[in-house]
Amino acid sequence: MNISFLMPTRVVFGKNCIENNRIELGKHGHRAFIVTGKTSALKSGALKDVIKALSDSSISYLVYNGVLPNPSVENVREAARLARDFNADMIIGIGGGSPIDAAKAVAVLAVQDLEDEALFKASYVFKPLPVIAIPTTAGTGSEVTPYSILTDEKDETKKNLSHELLYPKVAFLDPSYTLMLPYEITVNTAIDAFSHAVESCLSKRANSMSIMVSLEALRLMGSCLFNLCHDQSISSDKREKFLYASMLAGIAIAQTGTTVVHAMGYSLTYFKNIDHGKANGLLLSEYLRYVNTNNFLKIEQILKVLDMKDLDELESSLNKLLLKPDPLSDHEIDIFSQKAVLAKSVTNTFPTPTLDDIKALYIASLGSTRSTMNKF
Ligand code: NAP
Ligand code: FE
Repeated sequence: MNISFLMPTRVVFGKNCIENNRIELGKHGHRAFIVTGKTSALKSGALKDVIKALSDSSISYLVYNGVLPNPSVENVREAARLARDFNADMIIGIGGGSPIDAAKAVAVLAVQDLEDEALFKASYVFKPLPVIAIPTTAGTGSEVTPYSILTDEKDETKKNLSHELLYPKVAFLDPSYTLMLPYEITVNTAIDAFSHAVESCLSKRANSMSIMVSLEALRLMGSCLFNLCHDQSISSDKREKFLYASMLAGIAIAQTGTTVVHAMGYSLTYFKNIDHGKANGLLLSEYLRYVNTNNFLKIEQILKVLDMKDLDELESSLNKLLLKPDPLSDHEIDIFSQKAVLAKSVTNTFPTPTLDDIKALYIASLGSTRSTMNKF
């Protein structure tokens, strides 16, 4: 048996977890640079709790609320300049995956100047600042992963910056911060977490421990995600389950990476402005059919924990939550496929897809006028 499993983030989960564990903040620095989006840190109540905990612990802070969804390299460079001017010694990311990912990149760039290439190669001279992560969406699991996904405008795609030192030191998960999430963001982020659990379970790099975690995430998600199409009210119990499950799915992808689904989804977000989670959800059913041809035992395991009889049932459940966009053009499919095939996560996919497989996956998932490609 070969297993490698790393989870160095202290996870503190529960209502009022920041106030009850503020001692954790003081362990990592004295000058906190807070990285957030426009409104979510305020709306969720997380910023107020953090500021109180920092003030009670005599920790100075500066708030940067300029992170945009799918943050670009330029966006994090701007924040890093301010963090450096402030002499920050720790970075606190509050928000969805975008601010938390931005916080990780700021932690790197606040202590060193790096060209884009060195940034993405993760060849750092100085240790990144410690990161504290406080999610306000239940989806990305970024609070427990060593990844920061940034938009690279030069290459017109999203890229993954990955380094062991980017695992947050502490993740504070308070489900009450997700209570105000609008229905659509709740669904899309939950589908992202669902996709993480599925992809991790099917990754070439999966091992018995990561599979155990991903299946548990799927069991919890399955019990509430697919009911959302019948009943849009989301109880606080469900919110708690989503946050816990998305964190577990994050722990799973931290071990295995994602697969071709994420690689393909990035162009749907970059060029078509489709939310990250939704982009994955649109591709998931055909990906599962593709994997099923070689790995049907694992697919059976997944269907079993979801209490579903076959992939058609899973596809129809996903379709009820996702409104399909217009079909992609042939030109789009060519460009998106050429970009996706270069992504690292493609190599985690079993069986490893070729460029033609990726084109066929796009066509089967999002239709095209072109009809000559093979279907799975
Ligand atoms: P997001 O881009 O962080 O946020 C989407 C929207 O939700 C924003 O408008 C945000 O507002 C709003 N929002 C966040 N929390 C809210 C709350 N509690 N109440 C009301 N509105 C709220 O979305 P996300 O899906 O969480 O993150 C997506 C990003 O994470 C993508 O860039 C994706 O590539 C990345 N990702 C990273 C990992 C990883 O392991 N690092 C894994 C998967 C995905 P504001 O504008 O005010 O913030
Ligand atoms: Fe994701």
